[in-house]
Amino acid sequence: MAEPTEFRLRPIGYVRSAVGERKSMPPLGTIADVELLPEFAAGLLRIEKHSHLWVMAWLDQAEREVLQVTPRGVSDRGPAGLHGVFAVRSPARPNPIGLTLTRILGLDGLRIRCERLDFLDGTPVIDLKPYFVTRDAALAANNAPIGRPLNREALRDALTLQAANFHGELCPDLALAVEAIERFRAEQLELAEPDAWEITVPLAWPCLVDAVMGMTRATPGKGNLHFAVGDEIVIHHGGGRWSYPLTRRQP
Ligand SMILES: [Zn+2]
Repeated sequence: MAEPTEFRLRPIGYVRSAVGERKSMPPLGTIADVELLPEFAAGLLRIEKHSHLWVMAWLDQAEREVLQVTPRGVSDRGPAGLHGVFAVRSPARPNPIGLTLTRILGLDGLRIRCERLDFLDGTPVIDLKPYFVTRDAALAANNAPIGRPLNREALRDALTLQAANFHGELCPDLALAVEAIERFRAEQLELAEPDAWEITVPLAWPCLVDAVMGMTRATPGKGNLHFAVGDEIVIHHGGGRWSYPLTRRQP
């Protein structure tokens, strides 16, 4: 039997977002709705069991003929910045399927309010699947950096997301941890992510420890996260030592 060479998809709904063009989309997306078509409403039964959702969309404006791109955030526009489309999350690819993990903020009839959805207004949605912590969360996963954040705000947003994804809430100690890691990367590494560093965190700051683990993926088991008494985060990198003193804020 011949292998099929084409498939037909149909939208199950559309993105309803305040952002209608790509250059206005924040790097981590924005609060937006997925509006299901009425004939698929029954498919939402018990979706409230899940906090997070994979949203798959058909990126109808994407380029489909290229196989290598220099993604957003890569400063080297020469050959060294080129990446295969299967090695990056650029919309350009033969089948322009967008895949974004989002947190469900609320349900209202056919509309699912999503946090950090990075699809443009009107983008066709082709599928929704729940995020399973038991199999989707590969906490030991790693990426060699593809590019560096566009600016300090983009770095802060990315760090806050990683910290909150690990810790589960935004709290004052988490914000302090973000500030320290952001400052180190901005002042010492031109925003880049270090390939090797060791971090010492204070035992008496549990929320901050969670946040640092989420942002850096350092763990005691890997040997790059250490605990100490005191009120500072200490970073060792490339033979240098940086200390970030902490002062607790009122929540
Ligand atoms: Zn907390």
